[in-house]
This record gives sequence, C-alpha cells and structure tokens, in this order.
Amino acid sequence: MEVASARQYEPVIGLEIHVQLATDTKMFCGCELSFGLDPNTRTCPVCLGHPGVLPVPNRRAIEFGLMIGLALGCEIAPRSIFHRKNYFYPDNPKAFQISQYDVPLCSGGELAGVRVHRAHLEEDAAKLVHAGESGRIHGAEASVVDFNRAGTPLVEIVTEPDIHSAAEAAEWARLLRETLRALGVSDVNMDEGSLRVDGNVSIRPAGEATLGVKTELKNMNSFRFLERGLDAEIARQEGILREGGQVEQETLHFDNRTGALSSLRSKEEAHDYRYFPEPDLVPIAPTEAMIEMARAAIPELPLARAERFERDHDLPADSARLLAFRGEQGDFFEAALAVSPSDPRTLANYVVNDVPPGSAATPEAVAKLVDLIGAGTVSRGAAKEVLEVLAAEGGDPEQIVADRGLGAAGGDELGAIVDQAIAENAGAVEKIREGKDQAIGAIVGAVMRQTKGRADGGEVQKLIRERIGA
Ligand SMILES: [Zn+2]
Repeated sequence: MEVASARQYEPVIGLEIHVQLATDTKMFCGCELSFGLDPNTRTCPVCLGHPGVLPVPNRRAIEFGLMIGLALGCEIAPRSIFHRKNYFYPDNPKAFQISQYDVPLCSGGELAGVRVHRAHLEEDAAKLVHAGESGRIHGAEASVVDFNRAGTPLVEIVTEPDIHSAAEAAEWARLLRETLRALGVSDVNMDEGSLRVDGNVSIRPAGEATLGVKTELKNMNSFRFLERGLDAEIARQEGILREGGQVEQETLHFDNRTGALSSLRSKEEAHDYRYFPEPDLVPIAPTEAMIEMARAAIPELPLARAERFERDHDLPADSARLLAFRGEQGDFFEAALAVSPSDPRTLANYVVNDVPPGSAATPEAVAKLVDLIGAGTVSRGAAKEVLEVLAAEGGDPEQIVADRGLGAAGGDELGAIVDQAIAENAGAVEKIREGKDQAIGAIVGAVMRQTKGRADGGEVQKLIRERIGA
C-alpha cells in the first residue's frame, strides 16, 4: 500500500512583514532614527520606558501607514486605537510594546491576488547584541542591549494564507518590497532589518479545505532564504505527516548556512500578551483631508508599471512583471528605451536576462546595441557576446564590435560562406527542393558555425533560397 506516501500535499502560506518606516524620528518620541551609530546614543526617557513619561504619536508615521494601506487597497479604519502588548524581554524596557490589536489602521486589502488581512502601526524593540567571548561576565557569555532601535516606527502587514509555494511567497514579498520602495515609506533594506519577513506555513492534502497546523518561520533576511526556509519547512511537515505524526504549532528559526530548522519556542496565543488599550494615547481618527493627502502622495506602483509596460511597449506579461517588480531593472529599461524606442521587446529581453543589476553596462550602451542590431550591423548571436563584455567591463558597443571583429557577416564574405555550406549539404538541398522546408536548418547552422554567429539568420535563409531557387 503506497496510498499514504503517494498523497499530494498542498502548502498554505501566509506572510507577516515588519516594515521600519523611514521617518526622521521614532514612533512616540523625538529621538532620531539611526542605523549603525554608536549604541545607546539615540535614546530618551520615553523610548527607554522611564516611569511617568508620555508617548506622542509620530504624524509622519501615521501618514506612511495610510499610504501603505491605500496602496494595498485596504479600508482605513475611521477610528483605531493603540494597545499595550505585554511581555518581558531585555529588549523591551517598558515590558510592553505599543501596537494595535482589535482594530488596525488598515484592513482587508489585496496585492497581486494575495489578500491583505491587516496593516497596523507599532513600535520596534531594541536590539540585543550577543557579545561573545569579549563580553564574558563572571565567565558566562553576555548579551548587551542597544536601545537606538527601540521605538522605531513599524507597520506590520499580515496577509491571508493565499500563497501556495515557497517560490510564490518570495516573488510576492519581492513585489511588496518594490511597492513599499516606490511609496518611499521605508528603506526596505533586508540586511539592515528595515524589512523583516516571517512566514506562516502549513500543509494539507491537496483538494482539502481545512487548514493544517501551522508553524512560523521568523525573520527571514533575504528572499532567497525565505524561499529556502519555506521549502525546508514544507518538506519537514510532509515528512512528519507521511510518518503518521502531527505537526506542532511552534516558532522556528531557519539557519541560512546549514539549512537546518530549529525550534525557538512554542507559539504564543494573543491572550498570553494581556492586550489592553493604551491609556496614554488618543484614538487615530484620520480626516478626509489626511486620507486624500496620503492618496495623492502615492506614485505609480510596480503592478501598474507592469501593466503600462505590457500595454504601451507591447512587452510579454512575464518580462513586463520582471522589469516592474525589480525596480532598478525597470528604471534601466526605461532609461534605455528613452534612447532607443524602436525595439522594446529586444531591449526588455536583454535587460532581464543579460544585464544583472549593478553590472558595468549603461542604459545608453544597451540601447545603442539594440540600434546596431536594428541596422543589421550586428547579428543577434554576436550581440550576446557584446552584452557579456558590456556587463563585465562596460564600454561602447560599436567599439567592442570593432575591436573583436563581431560585425555582421555580409556581402561577398557571407555569399561565399553560404555557397560553401550549400555545396557541403547536398542532401539538405535535395530535401528542401522536395518541400521538406525544415531541412534548411542544417545549412543555416553550417553558416552560423562558420561565421561564429555573426550572420543574421533571416538574411542567411534568404540567401540560401535565392541560390538554390527554392
Ligand atoms: Zn526617545
């Protein structure tokens, strides 16, 4: 009986994303936001949780929260309040975090087919730094706290469990990051922790509607690790279920280097935090004017940009999305298109496949190369070689073509090569004359080999047909 092991499982994934807002100051005090500055140099009695201090909400943070909610198509709550989420931890001097609970600022949105459950405002915790050998106290390893991060404004975005593979989760998170980047509300720098992604994952037999027990993967700091971590967790859960076991609800850490998953803690429930309304803050009740201002501040977003690329430049949907969802490449494409608008598809293809972000190629150079192809000066085959040089070293495509002898084969030179290829492929010529047209491929191939790809395929076919009278 192989029934159990042949069973197909469907992963069900939801994401929780913490976004540090790029305001000048913290969420409830006037301390400057900082990254990488000397520890404990951006603190005050409010963010250190001294007794008797009063929080004052950051207006800009609320505006950014509204922009995020509107960009994700959420409803804005006419009145939402802050709550205290109580827990003890050394990175949390007040022993509570100010967050939102039953009524978030934004709820019920959607981005690219994934529903957004909610987006709410809260404050970040301080940062624990494990001091290692140098920080031993009485022989024990010590940790120290940097309160510079304490009180940094955050928006937490929670999706519905609408994602069904690790790759899809990473792609969606990428789109969300580009959307936030376009909004200008965050640095969205995963290395520095200004964008942190947690994944909730469960699996269920394919076709079933009931959700399985979910686990949470914390703080994935790159999209690649998010995808790898989710894949590892999906495989772990499948292993458990196939052996007849049960998945336990817990929070897990994925080790990027070893690929191992380890348990951090069993999952808390909301009631563990003893949420209650923050008595020192008034409700957030955005006026129409505030909402309209936030709406007006939203620029073209990646999804709309993809649609525009598809519509205005006739790009295939997948390259339009690749360009628009990777903002830098989208900018590169548009800059090149401004120089050479004649062949957007070829241009898009090169930007997506041959010009990695941060390469030495400039938009002007890639645009010029596309023009050289259009003019028949360089074949598409040889253009690939020019692109490799451009990406690695930069430079001028015309010069690269001249230096490396990559100019398109044509005229008498190409005629002679075609004649030779026809002479050496008498069998193929016979077949073409009998109407087996695909046999021309052998002759074209021979010409391409001889010219090392410098000839234009269409031109070669035309010459062959002319010469054999087919
Ligand atoms: Zn402060």
